Amino acid sequence: MADFDYDLFVIGGGSGGVRAARVAAAHGARVALAEEHKVGGTCVIRGCVPKKLLVYGAHFAEDLADARRFGWDVPQCAFDWPTLRDNVLAEVERLNQAYTTTLNSNNVEIVLERATVAGPHAVRLAGGREVSARIILIATGAWPVVPDVPGAEHGITSNEVFHLENLPRRVLIAGGGYIANEFAGIFHQLGSDVTLVNRTDVILRGYDESVRDRLLQISMTKGIRFQFNSRFERIEKSGDGLRVSFDSCEPLEVDLVLFAIGRAPHTKGLGLEEAGVSLDAKGAVVVDDDSRSSVDSIYAVGDVTNRVQLTPVAIREGQAFADTVFGNKPWRVDYHCIPSAVFSHPPLAGVGLTESQARQKYGAVRVYSSDFRPMKNVLANRGERALYKMVCEAETDRILGLHMIGPDAPEILQAAAVAVKAGLDKKAFDDTVALHPSMAEELVLLR
Ligand code: NDP
Repeated sequence: MADFDYDLFVIGGGSGGVRAARVAAAHGARVALAEEHKVGGTCVIRGCVPKKLLVYGAHFAEDLADARRFGWDVPQCAFDWPTLRDNVLAEVERLNQAYTTTLNSNNVEIVLERATVAGPHAVRLAGGREVSARIILIATGAWPVVPDVPGAEHGITSNEVFHLENLPRRVLIAGGGYIANEFAGIFHQLGSDVTLVNRTDVILRGYDESVRDRLLQISMTKGIRFQFNSRFERIEKSGDGLRVSFDSCEPLEVDLVLFAIGRAPHTKGLGLEEAGVSLDAKGAVVVDDDSRSSVDSIYAVGDVTNRVQLTPVAIREGQAFADTVFGNKPWRVDYHCIPSAVFSHPPLAGVGLTESQARQKYGAVRVYSSDFRPMKNVLANRGERALYKMVCEAETDRILGLHMIGPDAPEILQAAAVAVKAGLDKKAFDDTVALHPSMAEELVLLR
């Protein structure tokens, strides 16, 4: 067997890459991992984690207002963006250190340089060094897409949003997906004037229609503006702000444009095609069920493969890869029934088929739902209603999908997703005594 510098060289220190490196090393492999920015990747450094902390921070706006209805004498409160921003960034720094420590303690060599593929077993580092590895793992994630319009350079993406110097007064968010709706909620709660602009009239494509409609209705009631079927024409500097022109409606004057129109696999300039690795039309590494690319010695996990762009999926892919290739314990990721959530205000979550997907696949379905005003909202004089919806196979009542919007929906759905994944039916929920008083009890009282 050829003598390589490493058994495994991982390119990319995000969720998938770090898990694969750590587990492969624990299985006895000699492992190096290259990261050009910070160990932790998108989720930890400029994604899920700092976003969730901002969501918590933003939610205080409502909590402080509601507290008065619960008898608290809350004086006029002011929000200070630099305090929240810096505390969040300090936590990100702590996690970056924690990830680094984990890799070090598992004897993974960390190379803080950009690395590219120089051949089926060769990796070139930005500093000029070339190393060899029996297996190369591509875990470079995805990168925010910026539209090709004049003046796009005046906008920012989720990469920069955590570092803003000031809280913008008027924010335009491009896109209608996860990031757009999450940041619409954050900025609105923190006091900005928010307009969400999308090229179609759909938000959160892929989520259940009733739940999406509820978020749209609640967001509009809160004062977030939606401008649909609009395409950007140009973005120009205008005084202290920006003037954004569209194909179909009047221009908008704003202080910040945030692009949230999807994330593309991060493969450009990595040397993959030159090494014989097949990429698809979107630039994603094409892999088989074991995450192996068209080159036997090169694998890929996480967003760079564009299978499911979610952190827990990338982590599982990294674990399965390391166990299979280095641990002599082969297994494959099961992509069926993956729960997901949007941390909007209020949040929503879902698992399994939406009602329309279920109807398309099974014809007849039964839908059970509960449309209710959470107890806390009633006392707080808050009109927002929660919606829980269970989609079942008509004949057997087997649960095909579960969808919810309302306070703590992601926390509640995670537990209920176990039942959906296990193939339980509606009766299993009916047979379970309600835990009263809670919002989650609505799940066992659906009609
Ligand atoms: P999404 O894929 O969620 O949404 C993209 C949005 O941009 C859609 O509304 C889409 O419109 C629109 N769009 C797509 N392409 C273009 C284009 N070329 N020009 C203009 N608009 C366009 O992307 P995000 O950027 O919000 O998030 C990226 C990914 O990151 C998500 O898919 C998700 O997997 C992950 N993520 C997960 C989170 C979570 O788990 N809570 C949080 C944040 C991100 P339309 O649908 O109308 O075509």
